[in-house]
Amino acid sequence: MSVASASGAAWNAQRRRVLDRDGWVCTSCGSWLAFDHPDPRHDATVDHIEAVIHNAGKVYDDSELASMCRSCNSAKGDRPLVRVTWWDREIFPNGLPC
Ligand SMILES: [Zn+2]
Repeated sequence: MSVASASGAAWNAQRRRVLDRDGWVCTSCGSWLAFDHPDPRHDATVDHIEAVIHNAGKVYDDSELASMCRSCNSAKGDRPLVRVTWWDREIFPNGLPC
């Protein structure tokens, strides 16, 4: 899925603004950041606090974004919500009521 809001000049400006606000430091592990750094622990990314996948096309406010190194960002990822793959069979003997 392509995310139009995650590209272009507006996003670049916003990304830089968020990094400036956070002092070019990863909000997760505290390491210093630079654009296009070969070391993922120092490669600057801006994380959507809520994954983009749940809000396609939404315009994000700076307060919804956080500076993060690529290492932390990929650990967090844009994974969809974890699906429920089990349930308490004593409470719901016939499966989850849905
Ligand atoms: Zn980090």
